[in-house]
Amino acid sequence: MTQTPEAGPGPASATIVAQHAHLLETLPFADRQDFEDAHRGFIAALEPAVVRDADGRVVWDNDSYAFLAGDAPETVNPSLWRQSQLNAIQGLFEVVPGLYQVRGLDLSVMSFVEGERGVVVIDPLISVETAAAGLGLYRAHRGERPVTGLVYTHSHADHFGGARGVLGQERVDSGEVPVIAPAGFTEHAVAENVFAGTAMSRRAGYMYGAALDRGPLGQVGAGLGQTTSVGSVTLIPPTVHVTTTGQEVVVDGVRMVFQLAPGSEAPAEMHFLLPDLRALCMAENATHVLHNILTIRGALVRDPHAWARYLTDAIELFGEQTDVVFASHHWPTWGHERAIRFLVEQRDLYAYLHDQTLRMMNQGLTGIEIAEAITMPPALENAWHARGYYGSVSHNVKAIYQRYMGWYDGNPANLWKHPPAEVGRRYVDFMGGADAVVAKASDSFAAGDFRWVAEVVSHVVFAEPGHEAARTLLADTFEQLGYGAENGTWRCAYLSAAHELRHGGFGTPVSAAASDLFAQLTPEQWLDAMAIRVDGPRAWHERLTIDVALTDLGQTHRISLSNGVLSHTSTPGPLPADLTLRLAMPVLAGLLSGALGLGDLGSAGVEVAGDASALSRLLAVLDEPDPDFAIVTP
Ligand SMILES: [Zn+2]
Repeated sequence: MTQTPEAGPGPASATIVAQHAHLLETLPFADRQDFEDAHRGFIAALEPAVVRDADGRVVWDNDSYAFLAGDAPETVNPSLWRQSQLNAIQGLFEVVPGLYQVRGLDLSVMSFVEGERGVVVIDPLISVETAAAGLGLYRAHRGERPVTGLVYTHSHADHFGGARGVLGQERVDSGEVPVIAPAGFTEHAVAENVFAGTAMSRRAGYMYGAALDRGPLGQVGAGLGQTTSVGSVTLIPPTVHVTTTGQEVVVDGVRMVFQLAPGSEAPAEMHFLLPDLRALCMAENATHVLHNILTIRGALVRDPHAWARYLTDAIELFGEQTDVVFASHHWPTWGHERAIRFLVEQRDLYAYLHDQTLRMMNQGLTGIEIAEAITMPPALENAWHARGYYGSVSHNVKAIYQRYMGWYDGNPANLWKHPPAEVGRRYVDFMGGADAVVAKASDSFAAGDFRWVAEVVSHVVFAEPGHEAARTLLADTFEQLGYGAENGTWRCAYLSAAHELRHGGFGTPVSAAASDLFAQLTPEQWLDAMAIRVDGPRAWHERLTIDVALTDLGQTHRISLSNGVLSHTSTPGPLPADLTLRLAMPVLAGLLSGALGLGDLGSAGVEVAGDASALSRLLAVLDEPDPDFAIVTP
């Protein structure tokens, strides 16, 4: 190795270049239909495609992807390069007369359906700033139409975060503008941020490559879209819930017929037909990627069986009335036959992964083995929209195994493994010491066996994190794996890991924490969130009960701490609590979030009765999550 530890990314190796050449020969690059579709109906671009917040900070910069021109460089998988070129096409587009989309202004796509008086907005992007820019672009070309309805197709932040950029709360409160969402929307929209938010946000930094420079050696896109915008995330709570499939809602003369799809790509999700436009919105369940059964930032495993079922149902319910299918990511697919084929292939994609994983599982293969053994049908292999730019066959198969079987593969050798630093120390010792492992692994690197180098040299880094040659070799290796990856999130993860090995941790560059989301948390969710911050050992010997009377909600919750566990109930028994607090929900939220301290109780109007020390003792056992935790080093 000639690079010093501080050196940056190197060139693509011969192995990666050959791998790319093979893809160029085998995938149908001559098929340009997607480019035709991604440009179809183009009205205008946002120029410059840079969106800033009120302080002038850039929250979106699509122009930074101008390098995505021409053939793929050797350091980018040509299939991912192609997908990124498509995702970077930005502007306002007509889907059919009356239905428009703004694409390339965020990770997600915002759609507009024109009504009698104004326009119904579908999925207002992630940030207020990008949503406002998108609406502005629409209005510049379609007139100053008021927003007369807002639809959230599902409970992920890239489909509601920009709500306040297109609509004011007062027009919702007055009943003038309905906000429509699937049943369970709000609970799920906030729930994801409650329990594992810190860990997911830190890992999302890897998944989207937020700390990476954009360019052929860095971030080129995330497959689902280019990246996430980083403006203000908001939420206007829904006022109309879709509770049954077949439910029809008419807003401003726009007819929408809904199909619920809970527990698919999101826990609360729905598709809908615009029968008067013969246009079908598939939310995020049929897009131009193989989506995630389990996103690599971490999440609960999704249900591919139900997902495929909903796609079958959508075809049966709406297929005959569909001439164009669109989603809240990527470009639409036009023509009845093409739309149906697209839906069938998407359905078969998830069903095939599910069924074949189960088949092989029942033959005794484990997730890691199935991920290597499974082969996709040629028709899906060659369908661009079915390729693994966001989800991958490899990690989705392991996720399906995990959903049914859990983390343990059944082999007791794996039942009681040492943690990484311990196992690393032992491996390195058995293999003749760190220098010997690095020397041998350098040969494997030269031979292009990057997966193996990552495995063994990671043991060295966990055994001896200060071993510079090991860190450099591991960073070089992650870069090669990143250059080779067809999956946008894998590329980002590998290159982020290399970046941290070379330059140190970048922490959590983008956090989804938003006051609108916190405001929607129920008292129970706040108390659950507090419970998972209790430092168990520190709280072992603490015993206390506090009644929290929420004056604005008319509820009382009893918090009890015992054995390092914080439990709560809304039906306190007859025994008196150590302390009773009478306060409003926002004050409780402030106390639990740390925005308010014990010294603020008086000014916040909190009434305290009983042993006031109970509250300070409780706050003293609460731990803080760490948004900077190490990932590729011990
Ligand atoms: Zn999305």
